[in-house]
Amino acid sequence: MLLRNRLLSLNLASSLPSPSPPPKSVSFIFSFNKTIAHSTHKLPESKPQVPASRATKQPMSETAQFAKKVLFVPPGVDPEEVTDEMILPGSNIVLGPYAGHSQIKEVEFVKSSGRAKDCPKDDRPEFAILGRSNVGKSSLINALVRRKEVALTSKKPGKTQLINHFLVNKSWYIVDLPGYGFAKASDTARTDWSSFTKGYFLNRETLVAVLLLVDASVPPQKIDLDCANWLGRNNIPMTFVFTKCDKMKASKGKRPDENIRDFQELIKENYRQHPPWIMTSSVTGLGRDELLLHMSQLRNYWDQ
Ligand code: GDP
Repeated sequence: MLLRNRLLSLNLASSLPSPSPPPKSVSFIFSFNKTIAHSTHKLPESKPQVPASRATKQPMSETAQFAKKVLFVPPGVDPEEVTDEMILPGSNIVLGPYAGHSQIKEVEFVKSSGRAKDCPKDDRPEFAILGRSNVGKSSLINALVRRKEVALTSKKPGKTQLINHFLVNKSWYIVDLPGYGFAKASDTARTDWSSFTKGYFLNRETLVAVLLLVDASVPPQKIDLDCANWLGRNNIPMTFVFTKCDKMKASKGKRPDENIRDFQELIKENYRQHPPWIMTSSVTGLGRDELLLHMSQLRNYWDQ
């Protein structure tokens, strides 16, 4: 089967469950549930997930079962119609009709907030970027916006523990959240991540998705697994962005794709369906354009 072969070629499908009939109640992939629940936006009535002619048909094909189980099938895409070409390279993300203009033309720092309720109050959609200290968050943000200095704002003394909003193309936000782990923060700079950032996730109505950065050059870390599991349990829409995928370690340690497979194996119990994930490198640019396309389809769906 083409789709399965595609993931096998990435060496990742072996960790994923074999195709089995999806639960009847699941009409959307996990990551959209929260967005739908806490936004007033309607589902696209003119774009039913399954054409009426197909809705009454018998069992899903094996390809569609596989697609629903391991791929991120966005709204507007019928799992029966997913083809190899629709999957973004180095990811499990299917590109759908909501993908659109994705490049970043301008970006401006708006504000740093100490509490969720101090964040900008307009209704623009936002993506929160989160990860352990040193995961490559600043590098990724700089690679996305193609400007060296942007993420540095949040690295300045006094800003590392704040919620930093960057307005992109005057229409949506990238939100740089405090890194957890705080390897570099002094004791006095430490913030109680549990009450501070968790409050943001649970109350921020304009949050389209969290990009949870995970360093693919090291084995799964407990602190990342704890964070992923907490977000999963709380139905926070999330995309796993694996960083440093250029760091190939053939002789010592595992390769990034092996670490990614191990990580996914450890978190899969907390998800009914697999969240979107993508491999990136800020050094080679791997995954940059694909991640922006993925963000555009989440945003455009949220926005309509
Ligand atoms: P932050 O603390 O999460 O903001 O992480 P930084 O962006 O400051 O990166 C931490 C370290 O990882 C730096 O030494 C970066 O040069 C390095 N780094 C970040 N991204 C990549 C990447 O994609 N590949 C490689 N090989 N190194 C990276």
